[in-house]
Parts: sequence; structure tokens; C-alpha cells
Amino acid sequence: MKNQGINKETESSFWLETSPSTKFPQLKEGLKVDVAILGGGIAGITTATLLKEAGYNVAVIEADRIVKDVTVGTTGKISVSAGYSYIKYKLGKDQAQSYANANMDALDKITEIIRIHDIDCEFHRLPLYIYNESPKLTSKFKREFNLVKELGLPVSFPDDVPLPFKTGPSIKYDNQAQFHPRKYLLSLSDYIDGDGSYIFEKTSFIDVKEGNVKEVVTDHGSIMADNVVIATNTPVYDPDELRNHLHPEGSFVIGLYTNGNFPDGMFIENEPVHTYRTTPTDKGQMIIVAGEHSPVDVKDKNVYYDRLEKYAYQHLDVKSVDYRWSSHDSTTDDDLPIIGETSQKGVYVATGFGFWGMLNGTTAGMVITDLITGKENQYADIFNPLRFTREHMAILKMRSAILNLILFFM
Ligand SMILES: Cc1cc2nc3c(=O)[nH]c(=O)nc-3n(C[C@H](O)[C@H](O)[C@H](O)COP(=O)(O)OP(=O)(O)OC[C@H]3O[C@@H](n4cnc5c(N)ncnc54)[C@H](O)[C@@H]3O)c2cc1C
Repeated sequence: MKNQGINKETESSFWLETSPSTKFPQLKEGLKVDVAILGGGIAGITTATLLKEAGYNVAVIEADRIVKDVTVGTTGKISVSAGYSYIKYKLGKDQAQSYANANMDALDKITEIIRIHDIDCEFHRLPLYIYNESPKLTSKFKREFNLVKELGLPVSFPDDVPLPFKTGPSIKYDNQAQFHPRKYLLSLSDYIDGDGSYIFEKTSFIDVKEGNVKEVVTDHGSIMADNVVIATNTPVYDPDELRNHLHPEGSFVIGLYTNGNFPDGMFIENEPVHTYRTTPTDKGQMIIVAGEHSPVDVKDKNVYYDRLEKYAYQHLDVKSVDYRWSSHDSTTDDDLPIIGETSQKGVYVATGFGFWGMLNGTTAGMVITDLITGKENQYADIFNPLRFTREHMAILKMRSAILNLILFFM
């Protein structure tokens, strides 16, 4: 490896470096809002936006600065999830269908939000290719393709992937999208703050005191709210012990320049996971490459960055690596996000986005807004935080065992 444009110790998200910083105040005592939303990432900011649009007064309470944690760790691909076959095996075809519909509705919602709020966030519609380098996986890809086609997703099974190296099978999803996630969410933060709604930064949540009107206790005093939304990625208030159903993992990203052009599109290798997208920069088109999963508390991140760089040098004609950043996200026991009301009435949670947080975080905003405003939401059941009953877990265990057997003999 040679010619790296960064100091090895420097970690910095491109999204943070290329957007303004924020300076919202700390919590003011003595306020009452309709909904207090803990966490200013994509889930919290989207929920606050949709509730304010519905006429509710909201307060976003953020421990640090908004849009500075997992949401700037992302690569900002707005695409339907991979692995619907797993969801079909584990939960049934109806659930796979609902999840596909929820993904497509969320993509439409982001498009609508950008149009209504006239947001300049480098949003582009592009195809997504999910591929593998090995031709051995062709029959597995064909099965997934047949399923997602039946589910109504805009797919084809192309002969080639336009990457500058050889690949095996792939599924092409048309009309997916990418954006600058921080520019999108900072624009929404301008909309949220004002007219009886607030964003408070540098204010850490401590506790919720239950009641018809809830007291949300923070390190800068309390705020009263009829409803509370926990959108802190890992729930900081967890009456149903949902943490037991979350599986957090770290993941790594580099931003690099190559000699020559990279194709338009987004690309995800499914096993082992590597992803690509591009973004315009002052120095020209930068390629964002992600991959390498790790435990969340890993001591030496350089091991993972180095592996990712080595992979990039093996696959691309790399000129320089200018950015590196990492973050984490959690999958759940059944691979679906956890979105909805907890066992504490009026307390809602959004977590377990499984590295698909641009759409799942948007779905969280849509579902929770409907639940709070009393509208029916067709996805409330499949994402229900209370679904992890003993019976559900037993069925999941049995189906996962069957799935592992099938995979073993394939
Ligand atoms: C490397 C990587 C690449 C990814 N790429 C993609 C992708 O291309 N497409 C995609 O869809 N998804 C992707 N994801 C997943 C996506 O980034 C996440 O699912 C999503 O950003 C999570 O958003 P969030 O709102 O839950 O969390 P966050 O953005 O972390 O927001 C939660 C907020 O809560 C705050 N908070 C925590 N504790 C407290 C407290 N006590 N009081 C108040 N506030 C608190 C935090 O400071 C934080 O700001 C990727 C993830 C990673 C790690």
C-alpha cells in the first residue's frame, strides 16, 4: 500500500467535514411539549419532523451535538435491504412482503420530505447492485431474485456488474438513492426548531418518571411531555430489556480517489460485506468503500482499517485514501427493526436498524408518528417492540435451525 492521504491516527467522517456545525442550546427548565424525542440521529430528527408536520410540539434532546454519532458513520445509501429470503425463512412470506413495502414507502417518504422542504442534500436516484465475487452463489442469488421480484421490488438479474473488476451473480435494484445524510438532517433541524418546538444539545437523558404527563429528567433539569420517543440507537431507557434482542457490531469506512472513473451506482457485496458509492468533492469524485465488521469495543481499529484498505488496493487503482471513519449498528433476533410503543404507555422506541438505518430510521419516524397521532399503521405489528415473546423466540429458534441445515446442504 502506498500514497495514503491521511494520517493513520485520524478518523473523521466526510459528512461531518463537509457540512456546518450546530450550536443549539442546552435544555431550559419548566417546558412542556407534546413529544420529547431523545437522540438527534436520523430516527430522532425524522420523527420530530413528521410530528411537527402533524401539528405537534416536539423537543429533541441530544447528549452531544445532533447528527454526529452513528448517522455520520453511515455511507448514506438509501436502499431496500438485502436478505429478504432470510426474513421469509425466519418469519414467513407475509412479513418479507410487509418489510419490502415498508422499505419502499420510506424511500418515497425521504423523496417527499426533500421535495416539500426543498433540501439540497445531493440526493440522486441510482441503481443498487447486490453482488458476489464467486459464481458459486448463482443459485442462491437466483432464489433471492425470484423472491424479491414476487415481492414487487424493481429488480433485474443482469449479466454484468459495471464494477472495474470481475464479479459473479448480482441483483440490480433500480431507482434506489444516495444522499449527503448530514445535509439532509441539518436542513430538517432548521425546520424543527421554533414555533414551540425545540432542539436541545449537550443535554443527556437520565430517566423518565411515568405518569399521564411524563417528566423527562436530564443532566440540565426536566421537561414535561405527553409522549417520549427513545431514538438513541441503543435504547437509554429500556423497560422491555430490548438490549437482549440487539446484536451490535462495528463497521469501517474509507474515502479514496482512484486513477480513472468509477461507475455510477451503489454496490454491495453480500458475503463478506463490502460496499461502494461515490460522492462529489472539491478534488473530484471520491469513492466511499465500507466493510469489515468488528465487536463494538474493539481496541485496535487499525487492524480493520488496514484490512479494508488492502481490499480496496486489491480491487481498485487507488491514488490516495483521504478519509477513514467507523461506527456501529445493531441487528435484531429476527432481522427486523424494533419500532413502536414499549410496555410503558406513551413511551416509544426505535432501534435495531441492522445497517439499513436510512430507510429503517425513516420508517421509525413514520410508524411512531402514526401511533402518537392515532392513525392506523400497517407496519406497526411487524416492528412491534413487544413481539419478542417466548413463543416468537421458540419459533425463531426452530426456523433458524432449519435455515442453517438448508444452508449447510446448499
Ligand atoms: C459503517 C456504517 C455504514 C452504514 N451505511 C449505511 C447505509 O449506507 N445505508 C443505510 O441505510 N444505513 C447505513 N448504516 C446504518 C445507519 O447509519 C444507522 O442505522 C443509523 O444512522 C442509526 O441512526 P440512529 O438515529 O438510530 O442513531 P444515531 O445517529 O446514533 O442517533 C442517536 C443519537 O442519540 C444520542 N444519545 C445517546 N445517548 C443519549 C442520551 N443519554 N441522551 C440524549 N441523547 C443521547 C446520540 O448522541 C446520537 O446523536 C451504516 C452504519 C455504519 C456503522
